[in-house]
Parts: sequence; structure tokens; C-alpha cells
Amino acid sequence: MNTPVPSATATDPTTLSLREALAFLDDRIAGRVLIPGDPGWDEARSAWNLAIDQRPAAVVIAADAADVARTVRTAKGLGLAVAPQATGHNAGPLAARDGLADAILLRTHELRGVEVDAESRIARVEAGAQWGDVVAAVAPLGLTALAGSSHDVGVVGYTLGGGISWLARSHGVAANHVVAIDVVTADGMARRVDAEHDAELFWALRGGGGDFGVVTALEFRLFDVPALSAGMLLWSIERTADVMAAWSAWTADLPASVTSLVRALRLPPMPELPPFLSGRSLVVVEVAMQEDPARVDELLAPLRALAPEVDTVHPQNSDELLQLHMDPPQPTPGYGDGMLLAELPPAAIRAFVDEAGPDSSSALLSAEIRHLGAMMRPGVARAAASAQGRPEPGVTAGIDAGYLVFGVGIAMPGNADALAESLGRLLARVEPWRAGTDYLNFAEHSRLPERFFGDDLERLRAVKQAVDPTKVIRSNHPVG
Ligand SMILES: Cc1cc2nc3c(=O)[nH]c(=O)nc-3n(C[C@H](O)[C@H](O)[C@H](O)COP(=O)(O)OP(=O)(O)OC[C@H]3O[C@@H](n4cnc5c(N)ncnc54)[C@H](O)[C@@H]3O)c2cc1C
Repeated sequence: MNTPVPSATATDPTTLSLREALAFLDDRIAGRVLIPGDPGWDEARSAWNLAIDQRPAAVVIAADAADVARTVRTAKGLGLAVAPQATGHNAGPLAARDGLADAILLRTHELRGVEVDAESRIARVEAGAQWGDVVAAVAPLGLTALAGSSHDVGVVGYTLGGGISWLARSHGVAANHVVAIDVVTADGMARRVDAEHDAELFWALRGGGGDFGVVTALEFRLFDVPALSAGMLLWSIERTADVMAAWSAWTADLPASVTSLVRALRLPPMPELPPFLSGRSLVVVEVAMQEDPARVDELLAPLRALAPEVDTVHPQNSDELLQLHMDPPQPTPGYGDGMLLAELPPAAIRAFVDEAGPDSSSALLSAEIRHLGAMMRPGVARAAASAQGRPEPGVTAGIDAGYLVFGVGIAMPGNADALAESLGRLLARVEPWRAGTDYLNFAEHSRLPERFFGDDLERLRAVKQAVDPTKVIRSNHPVG
């Protein structure tokens, strides 16, 4: 927008000049601007995580990439920040700072376009595309994307933070397969960045999170997965100690073709769940194995020897993977957090079982341990990129940890203390094995940026300073 906007105070959306400027923006964009009190305000400001109360100065619902650029320029003129949000899966840390009172929440959820070039095996998605959109577009072509476990997680937010898929151990983080990014930077300029253009910004965006601009489109590689079996093995929660110990030992010697996790689940009675799940407390191993059925049987033998009550592992197409983790089908009030572990010795398993197993009073719905390693190791991922002639990975080339712990519960009136205590105890007990780094996507509370980026933080801050010196762009995990 070239027309100057009236000046206004950043913190009071009811001042006439701020209202005027936002009305001016509303007139000029294809989408909508909402301010407190407008019809639809509460819906517009609500995040996927319904436990988070976002109270921004205004909400812009973008209808195209031009709306994004106009919003950024207007916010900058008003002295407001711009916080892009596709779904609000990771809204907790974003809203922690005064509920976003000094920011425009820029919702991208109407920008759901997905284009696929089957020949080059590249997908191009708009800012608000969700994994379900991508999987629906690529599966009929026999292709696979590095999707997360949930159909309605945003592709952009997930990928900017790294992205751990069910193919993580064989393919590495999703960010390593991004080939180009369209981004609007704080000056309101639309740029296309890749390994040859704005290479430093391209490096920062691939794993550094959303602090460097508003992404309007992302292009990434798709894959052929010729053989896949996946499913869960399930036991009553009383078996947690045996099953977790066996799973942990099993992971010590697995090929990269197998990605798996183990979790203690306490499911409330829910009519939409099958009877073997509804209202039950369980220990579950979930696996995705890119192997033919005979090799799957061979690899799974040590876990099947524990006589699971239910075993759903079967050959399937990769689009079925979106159901494997049984993530909530719609927005949910959640309270959770994660921690990376360098290793998982028997003492760590015992600590985890004490806090999440049958004899604990855990209020968590799910307490899980994901297996990382193989292509998730940054050094291995960098070597593979170089050997395959791909561009150097970005700041998050991989995750320097063997395992990832994540605990989550449903936030309901009256259970906040119980959830915080259960999660706090679980994470405190496994802390002795904590890795030297944290994973951005599974950090649902604010962290010091050093925890995510270590020695790369200064380089990231230099990128931020170059593209957004006055900190117009507000992300859930700012670099400084
Ligand atoms: C149920 C559930 C399942 C999950 N499963 C996985 C999983 O399997 N693997 C995994 O790695 N992670 C997983 N996650 C974590 C998830 O990847 C993060 O929460 C991620 O941030 C979600 O992105 P989003 O866009 O949906 O969320 P949002 O809250 O909308 O966005 C999170 C942040 O991403 C940035 N962002 C979003 N859109 C843009 C944009 N257009 N431009 C610039 N920045 C932007 C912003 O900084 C924003 O604050 C899961 C989370 C949940 C709640």
C-alpha cells in the first residue's frame, strides 16, 4: 500500500486513528479486517488450541498474498507487530506476551491451495494449507509428503520449525526438502528465496521458525514410498514397564526405514472411538515401516512376542498415516510440552513409567516417546544432502537427540493444576537425560532461543536484523 496510513497508538484499538487505518486496510484488501466487538471477532481470534486466549489489536483474514503484503505495510506504519497464524496449533507461546495486544493476528487459513508437479515431484502450497490438503492432492498421484501426524496441522508452521513425519528416520526433517519459499518481509516486499536467491534468509527459514517474514507459499519435494506397513500394537496400561523397556531395546538396532513411538494413553469414554480404545488406559507402540510384509514381520517379532491385545499393523498407502496417531479431529483445548532426550537408558524408562505408567496419578491423556536418530541426525542429513546434490540444509538440518518426549492433556475447567503438575513431574524426571537442544515444534511454552539454536543463534539474529530490524514480524518462538 503506497498511501500513507494515519498514525495511531499501538496499544489502543479503539482510538479513532487506529480504527481509521484498519478500515482503510479493510477497503483495500480482498480479505477482511476485524477489530474487537465486530461480529465474528471471537471466532476470528480463536486458535486451534482452544485453551489459548488470543486478544490481538486486530485480526486480518487474508484472501491472497497481496493482502499479506498490505497488512505488513499497514502494521509497520501503525507501530504494530504482525503475527502470522495458519491454525493456532502452537498458539501458546505466541499469546504468552500480553495475548498479542500490540499485534495484528494475520490468519492465513483461507489460503489452502496446493499444486503438484508430478513429474518433478514438487508440491507448492499456500500459507494456510494443512497436511490433509497436501495428502489428498498427492496420494492419487502415488506420491508421499513428509506430513506430520495430524491432518489439520499447518504445512508452513510445521516446516518452518523442522517437521518430524512418519518417515523422519529415513527422510530427515521436512525443512530439508524445501526447494523455494515465497515470503513477505517486514518492509512489505514479496521475495522468492531459494538456495541461489537470498540464501541466508532461505537458511534461516528452514528450521528457524516464523520470525523472518510471512510465508505466502512453500515448495517442497515429494517421494515415492513403494512399500509401507503401519499400525499400532496395544496392551493394557499395566504392561507399560515391560512394553516400554522392550520398545526402547528394540529401537537400539532398527534400520532407518522404521519410525516408531511408544505412548501411555488414558482415553476418556468417547462414542467415536472403537470399544478397544474408548475409556481405556493403554500402552501403545505405533510404527511406520517402509519394508515388505515379510521383513515387517521379522522386525516386529520382539514386540509381538509380548502378545499385544490388538495389532493393527498392515500394508497400506501413505495417506493412511494421517490416522495412525489418532490426533484430535478438530480444535481442542490442550496443555502439553516436549523435551528431547540424548539417550534412553533403562533408568530413563523407569522414570518415565513412574510418572506416566499404571501406578502414577498422571492427568495426561498421552505421554509419548518418539524415536529419532538415523537421517534425523544433523550430520547424517548434511552428508546425504551433499551426496544427493541437494542444497545445504537450513539451520535445523536435523535434531541432535535420540528421542523426543511429549506429554499432553485436555484442558478442562478445574484441571489446570493437575495437568501442569503431571507434565512438570514427567519432564523433571527425565531431565537428567535431556539433550543439549530443544525442538521448536514441540515446544508449547516459551523457551530461551539458545535452547533451539545454540551456536547458530547469532547467525539467525543477524538475518532477523537484516530483514526485520524493528521486529514487525512476531513469531511464537522469536530469535531474540
Ligand atoms: C495435534 C498436534 C500434532 C502435531 N504433530 C506434529 C508432528 O507429527 N510433527 C511435528 O514436527 N510437529 C507436530 N506438531 C507440532 C506442529 O508442527 C507445530 O505446532 C507447528 O507450529 C504448527 O504449525 P501451524 O501453522 O499449524 O500452527 P500455528 O500456531 O498457526 O503456527 C505456529 C507458528 O508458525 C509460524 N507460521 C505459521 N504460518 C506462517 C506463515 N505463513 N509465515 C510465517 N510464519 C508462519 C508462526 O511463527 C506461528 O506462530 C503437532 C502439534 C499438534 C497440536
